Amino acid sequence: MRHLIKILIIFLVILFFVPVFVFSDPYLNKITKTIKLKDGELKYYITYKGNRDKWAEYIMQKSRDFLIAAEDYLGLNFPKMDVCQIKARDKIYYNDPDSKLQGIRIGGSNFAGYIGIEYDLSKMYNPALLFHELGHYWFGQIYLYGEEETTCLIEGVVSFLPVAMANLNFLTLDEKEYYSLFQHWGISWVEHADDPALQTDFRWQNNEERRSVYYLKTFKLQYYIYKELGKEKYKEFLIETLATSESEDNIDEIIIRLNKLKKTKWRKLLSGWLFPGKYKEVSPSSLYNRNIKGSNKDNAKNNS
Ligand SMILES: [Zn+2]
Repeated sequence: MRHLIKILIIFLVILFFVPVFVFSDPYLNKITKTIKLKDGELKYYITYKGNRDKWAEYIMQKSRDFLIAAEDYLGLNFPKMDVCQIKARDKIYYNDPDSKLQGIRIGGSNFAGYIGIEYDLSKMYNPALLFHELGHYWFGQIYLYGEEETTCLIEGVVSFLPVAMANLNFLTLDEKEYYSLFQHWGISWVEHADDPALQTDFRWQNNEERRSVYYLKTFKLQYYIYKELGKEKYKEFLIETLATSESEDNIDEIIIRLNKLKKTKWRKLLSGWLFPGKYKEVSPSSLYNRNIKGSNKDNAKNNS
């Protein structure tokens, strides 16, 4: 009888713990904020695990600042939605069985109704990837299934957007955060003479290094366009890009748009970067070892 009671107790204990184990959510921690945007109030959630309350507050604050600043800078409201959610994860993989990218670690995402960010790639004072993913709410949806050759512009724009916004004082970033945007997108990385041009989306080649090069190059491409156009005209360029319909979304149209804003030899300038061929006007090493810290904001201003 004693033996039977012991077994019964063990059974009850198992019965109690198994569902807790199976159904407990490791991302139980959650913070919520209502962000007032132009089109109304947005409920914003961040779910995360462990002892990261300070980090989550930081991500919340930066999200809020970015959304409000981007609405002003781009003159276009955040897409109407009731809820926006960030799910923080240790690792984020691409999950679409029909895609060539299936199973590839991507570090951040904006699909399936939420934004995914990895803790280690979005540390405190490095909001680069968070801003990139939030930028896709403006630049991304209409281009997602558009022409492959212009995808690189969109990917670069969402990485560079916070720099452009900060330089016109729409977005306030401290020196460390501002610097982190350039570091995150590899401003010091030197392209090789034979790197593929961005006109072909070479992320699909299933090569992790190539995938990184793609994103680093897209940031630099925007940097050069920005330097050439200047901060005000670059803003116009982005606003016009947003107003462009998908059918007009091709490289020729983009060069026409750029020429309207500033007549210059865009094809020569962007050779090797956007267009296949040798690097011509802008060499791959032109940004190597550049000391951005402290002086870059002024450099960017001077160059504009
Ligand atoms: Zn992206």
